[in-house]
Amino acid sequence: MASPVKKVLRKSPVLKCPSFGCLKGVPAVNVTRGCLHRCSYCYARSFPETPQGEVHLYDNLPQKLSREITSRRRLPQMVTFSTASDLFQPHPEILKITYLSLKVLLEAGIGVSFLTKGRISGEFWDLFAAYQGLVKARFGLVSLSLTYQGLFEPRTANPYLRLRQIERANLLGLEPRVRVDPVVPGLTDQPEEIFKLLRTLKNVGVEEVSVSYLVLRPGVIRQLRRELPNEVFVSLLKAYEGMPWCRIITSATTKLAKKNLREEGYRIFRQIGEELGLKVRICGCKNPDLPFEPCFPWEGSFKGKLKQAELFGTNITGVQTDDPC
Ligand code: SF4
Repeated sequence: MASPVKKVLRKSPVLKCPSFGCLKGVPAVNVTRGCLHRCSYCYARSFPETPQGEVHLYDNLPQKLSREITSRRRLPQMVTFSTASDLFQPHPEILKITYLSLKVLLEAGIGVSFLTKGRISGEFWDLFAAYQGLVKARFGLVSLSLTYQGLFEPRTANPYLRLRQIERANLLGLEPRVRVDPVVPGLTDQPEEIFKLLRTLKNVGVEEVSVSYLVLRPGVIRQLRRELPNEVFVSLLKAYEGMPWCRIITSATTKLAKKNLREEGYRIFRQIGEELGLKVRICGCKNPDLPFEPCFPWEGSFKGKLKQAELFGTNITGVQTDDPC
């Protein structure tokens, strides 16, 4: 069988800033276009530029990063990985490019934040240990149920491996945070499920989680219809009945779950979080009809230098928010 990974050359600059949500002003790096994890709810899969049936690997990414770092007068203090693909996908060539790219950035003193549902192998832990103060680890984990994983994210690392990785990140001082996103209405928002998840996260050293319900886009609905058992799909869709299409982040055709349902779910998350001594943030970008809460991972602590005001305002040392990076 032909490899699903095709090497391509990245032509456009890498260290440029997206202008949306919590990522505003922070260069976002993706090692691939498309993602081998193929989560059924992933909206990046339906981007027009995402290749179908294969994943494009930016084979020249470390060299491009290296050139941009040496040629720029001002460097970002940090970059974030994995806005449209996971950096730890199960493929040796992808992992090699991920490793070299991280190394180039860390050796230049640039902080790195990543979000993953993948398996992190030994050489990465050694790298993180060497640059402990520059790495912020975030893990996606919505449920400990293997049934959930099998249905929605079957090619990711299993939830128990992710827990061990979170624990390891905590022991290394990477201050791991967890994104509980997407909460699937009626499936992963039952109080006992939430309690089990948050208690386990607390036990492995997590201090903060950010939470958001699944948002639907036309392409995501098509994927879910195709990839979920019909009864699961039909029951999930009921939570969105009658909701209008609206603009969320960069997409004008997004549907939120019913407001009362989200409010009740978030209330339960907060209440359980409070009981366990775990900070629960609700993702403001994906809940524009609720009071805004930022849930970015770098608040206050890349070597203690970055502050929210610096990242989002003016007078920035190193991080440029107004100009293209
Ligand atoms: S890991 Fe992230 S980018 Fe990859 S398919 Fe899943 S949701 Fe999409």
